Amino acid sequence: MYSEKDIASFVYKEPLLDKIIGLKPVTWINPNRKTMLEMPDFSISMKDILESEGLWERFAPFFMEAFPETKNTQGILESPLKEISSMRNFLNKQNPKIEGRLFLKCDNKLPIAGSIKARGGFFEVLSHAEKLALKAGLLKDDYRAFTSSEFKEFFNKHKIGVGSTGNLGLSIGIISAAIGFQVTVYMSADAKPWKKDLLREKGVRVVEFSGDFSEAILAGREQTKKDPTAYFVDDENSNDLFLGYSVGALRIARQLEADNIQVDAQHPLFVYSPCGVGGSPGGTAFGLKQIYGDHVHCFFVEPTHSPAVLVGLLTGENSKISVQDFGIDNKTEADGLAVGRPSSFATSISSHLISGLYTMEDQTLYNLLTQLMDTENVFLEPSATAGLIGPHRVLSTDYAKINNLNMKNATHIVWATGGNLVPEIERKEFYERGLATVGNK
Ligand SMILES: *Cc1c(COP(=O)(O)O)cnc(C)c1O
Repeated sequence: MYSEKDIASFVYKEPLLDKIIGLKPVTWINPNRKTMLEMPDFSISMKDILESEGLWERFAPFFMEAFPETKNTQGILESPLKEISSMRNFLNKQNPKIEGRLFLKCDNKLPIAGSIKARGGFFEVLSHAEKLALKAGLLKDDYRAFTSSEFKEFFNKHKIGVGSTGNLGLSIGIISAAIGFQVTVYMSADAKPWKKDLLREKGVRVVEFSGDFSEAILAGREQTKKDPTAYFVDDENSNDLFLGYSVGALRIARQLEADNIQVDAQHPLFVYSPCGVGGSPGGTAFGLKQIYGDHVHCFFVEPTHSPAVLVGLLTGENSKISVQDFGIDNKTEADGLAVGRPSSFATSISSHLISGLYTMEDQTLYNLLTQLMDTENVFLEPSATAGLIGPHRVLSTDYAKINNLNMKNATHIVWATGGNLVPEIERKEFYERGLATVGNK
């Protein structure tokens, strides 16, 4: 716990905290970012990312069998990288203007889970399932066996637990149920009713909490740990989630190559990722850094009401400190970002490699959602739109100048992290909410 004096001393040392506490949108450039030469050794490396990709390949036949919608990609779950020139033109009605190209990484279109959680969440559950099946001597070469009744019976004796604000619960719930696990999702108070309904339909046990994400995780962790046959997916400290996300970097690199887009000293790459506990943006940033080194510039985005990673990094306290310690309420409409405390594993790595982080208000998320629908006819959930103002925010700082970057040749990628499972009624509501204030900004 932190005393009032501790908090005052953090604010004294880091005046930006004053604005953050006042819920003002801020843009922070990371003074601790290391070049690749200075980068410390981490507990994971490129080798781990490549091995993680191997797991997806082994499970591809399972996906084709269990989820026929993955047949035309041979059981590989991937999303398009889409150039959004109309949105770029729209954004360029304001200064400073984006000179390079603007892309959307459409993880809203990831099969089955419709969000970036299909990367991390599926990976961790499949990796656990594979270990159990190998240990039991059940698994031979053919991973289609994971759809057999023999496997289902086996996995039905094992349990999975997870704490979630929604999307992680959806992804873990759906894949665990498909494998046959008994799965319990501990949902925070802000989780949407349709997400709980959808999970229950799939046979997932949903436990609701009146508290926020950290409380849901805490309760879930305690309940799950009591049972030796149970495994807890711990979003506040997970190596496997991180690795699952990191594979996204390999895939995006191949997509850029296929589109003949260069990334080098003369062609900088900027990536803007919505951030909750910091696992998905951290994992993908870690992978991108392994591939592109100093030529990739990764920025995270958080809601003004939930700047968990920013507060952790600014104070250097990482996951020890929460937004509530600063009197910030962690109340945001941005599902998946309503997080008061960052992941300790992810944050310890990201602290060295991210270029910066900015915060924004919920209403701006809705405005962007509406504008993206109008210009590109792409629907995203509110959280997933957060990266769209990234270029503008970064160009408003002296980051490009200080780092001597050729912005005319820049490629900007906005990581769209979710949206496909959102029901039609909610889509309309979100759109209307943005429409109501677009133009009044
Ligand atoms: C979970 C989530 C994020 C953030 O991922 P973290 O690993 O929590 O940082 C971003 N966008 C959406 C839509 C999410 O569900």
